[in-house]
Amino acid sequence: MISPKIQDALNAQINAEFWSAYLYLAMGMHFESEGRSGIANWFKIQFKEEQAHAEIFMNYLNSRGGRVVLKPIDEVPETWASPLDAFEQTLAHEEKVTSLINNLYALAEAEHDYATRGKLDWFVSEQVEEEETAQQLIDRLKLIGNDGLALYMLDQELATRVYNVPAPLAAKE
Ligand code: MG
Repeated sequence: MISPKIQDALNAQINAEFWSAYLYLAMGMHFESEGRSGIANWFKIQFKEEQAHAEIFMNYLNSRGGRVVLKPIDEVPETWASPLDAFEQTLAHEEKVTSLINNLYALAEAEHDYATRGKLDWFVSEQVEEEETAQQLIDRLKLIGNDGLALYMLDQELATRVYNVPAPLAAKE
């Protein structure tokens, strides 16, 4: 059985992961409408990954005999000034998610819930990757500046990104 405190915190994290999914879906739709289909593809895959993160937490909460409570998802922005703007907001958002994961980790330790702490290890590493990827794309977009051809080439490259089921979910299926 899981403590009510950890259950509430996991439900809050599930909501945060769905909000992330919604944010990236909105970005995907925005860039689709702007004719940047590669960048849109990148964000649509990000959307699927965030849904998978929520699913991992939901499966885990159920496996511990807890109860998943799905709260309303807050509104997300609709437009971004440029691809650079969207990736800067992605990085800022992922930094926030990292601190949420760290807080959850600290709570699991304080509550002596080592199963939950262990489950969070994968998310700790995942956040390092999320921040690194966003930072790399920001760096490249800064180099690209107003170079239309370079931006076109990056868009083509991001069109090749494919979705891979995250390991903890793949293990469950
Ligand atoms: Mg996530």
